[in-house]
Order: sequence, then C-alpha cells, then structure tokens
Amino acid sequence: MAFAYDDQNIFAKILRGEIPNDTVLETDHSLAFRDIHPQTPDHVLVIPKGPYATYDHFALEASDAEIVDFTRTVGRIAEMLGAQPSTGGGGFRMISNAGEDAIQEVPHMHVHVLAGRPLGRILQPA
Ligand code: 5GP
Repeated sequence: MAFAYDDQNIFAKILRGEIPNDTVLETDHSLAFRDIHPQTPDHVLVIPKGPYATYDHFALEASDAEIVDFTRTVGRIAEMLGAQPSTGGGGFRMISNAGEDAIQEVPHMHVHVLAGRPLGRILQPA
C-alpha cells in the first residue's frame, strides 16, 4: 500500500513553525497543542512530527520509536490535563478521524484528546 502525504496541510505548517500554535507538550517525535475550535474545556491534538496522513498510515509505517513516543505523549497529556481516571480525574476520550467517512479535515495524522466535561456516548445513531 502506497500512502500519500501532502506537506501543505495546516499541521505540517505548524510543525515547520509557519503558523503559531498553543503547544502543551513537545517531544522528540510528537507535538501536542490545543485545538483552535475546542469542543470540550480541554481539547488537545496530538500529532507525530513525521509525514503521516492518517492513523493507519502512522500505525503501519512509523518506526517503533515514533509510535512509543506518540503513545507516551497521549498518556502524558491525560496526566497534564488531570483527566486520568486512576488519579481521580474525570477521564477523557481519544478520537482519530481517518478519511472521508470520518470527515477528516486535516490530512496529517492526529488524535483528539477530549476532556473536562461528561462526553456523552461515542456516536449518535445514524
Ligand atoms: P479532523 O476533522 O481533521 O479530525 O480535525 C481537525 C481539527 O483541527 C479540528 O478540530 C480543527 O478545529 C483543528 N484545526 C484546524 N486548523 C487548526 C489550526 O490552525 N490550529 C489548531 N490549533 N487547530 C486547528
């Protein structure tokens, strides 16, 4: 499977420093920053620094180091937001939209970390 990546997407521009962002955490391979249109009191986007378009692209082609770094970054974001259920936080939800049916707007792999209020059920009936 050949994956394509368009480096003119808005998150690629954020990674290149061409547009500003509200960074929460930066690591060797990942960047976490606040969503510009938050859906919850805490709405953080976690992205890999590498050129991956969708979650499946990242999961299948990223290095072990990138995947470990990304997963740990999500965990650290939950910790930083005080959202960890294990420490009395209210919890959180992760969402990664991939492609047309999921209405992915930005074609650079990202996970939304949503927290800060009750989130309801994951999907509305079709
Ligand atoms: P998607 O639908 O692709 O899963 O979500 C893309 C997300 O990126 C949306 O929640 C949108 O608000 C956010 N977003 C789009 N442009 C920008 C931007 O320039 N800066 C930030 N911080 N978030 C953005």
